[in-house]
Amino acid sequence: MTILGAIEAGGTKFVCGIGDEQGHIHDRVSFATTTPEETMRQVIQYFERKDVQAIGLGSFGPIDPIVGSPTYGHITSTPKPHWARYNLIGKLQEHFDVPMKFDTDVNGAALGEYTWGAARGLGSCLYITVGTGIGAGAVVGGSLLQGLSHPEMGHILVRRHPEDAYQGHCPYHNDCLEGLAAGPAIEARWEQSGSDLPEDHPAWSMEAFYLAQALMSYILILSPQKIIMGGGVMKQSHLMPEIRKHVKQLLNGYVQHPSLLDHMDKYIVAPNLGDDAGLSGALALAKQLL
Ligand code: ZN
Repeated sequence: MTILGAIEAGGTKFVCGIGDEQGHIHDRVSFATTTPEETMRQVIQYFERKDVQAIGLGSFGPIDPIVGSPTYGHITSTPKPHWARYNLIGKLQEHFDVPMKFDTDVNGAALGEYTWGAARGLGSCLYITVGTGIGAGAVVGGSLLQGLSHPEMGHILVRRHPEDAYQGHCPYHNDCLEGLAAGPAIEARWEQSGSDLPEDHPAWSMEAFYLAQALMSYILILSPQKIIMGGGVMKQSHLMPEIRKHVKQLLNGYVQHPSLLDHMDKYIVAPNLGDDAGLSGALALAKQLL
């Protein structure tokens, strides 16, 4: 049996696991993301003697996932202390002589859902996470979306809600989507954590207003066959129906497809792989190397 290695490199924790081509995860560990030296020492210890045949790595970013680029395999401009310009893949290659595939955590999650989850059997999908940040990845025509680098769909511009005076928290753009709708923006705007806000709080219709605009842009540009929404903020299960309603209103019947006109509840969905979306995504990246 082929044993694949999977690494979900997150800003707060790293999850490592081994699994197979069918998407089954056989074993996993997780540890806090501290310094690169300490964190990577634990990653390397975990994979020693596991005899993996390929490693998939889905990482927080921004990263350089473009094979052949001088900084391929590096984390690039993250504000996270110690990790900017760190060569993740280079460090792994010092210890493991197996093929490796490196991409964003959200591209990995999109690939995982495409391979084994909510978008299985389709030709395209988009995965968006809404948590401490907002990021999205996409599979288009069976391939992960890359270009100059990777997409940064969390930082698109959105129309402001007329009742929103919050200036936004993105250090680069202030009131981009992430600056207005990620978890820290909800907390700063309403002066309490999103998880403490009641379901009927105006925060949630404002949140749906922003996220729906983003989904509309992704639908118009990429035309994905399925949209999967994960991340901590999306644990508010009442948010999903509100987002679907806003998306439908915004599109206003312009794109004539039954998924958008009649079956929005099957078009914008939660991850099928649940909390495994990240690690399964890394496993799907590894599977691509076989
Ligand atoms: Zn931004």
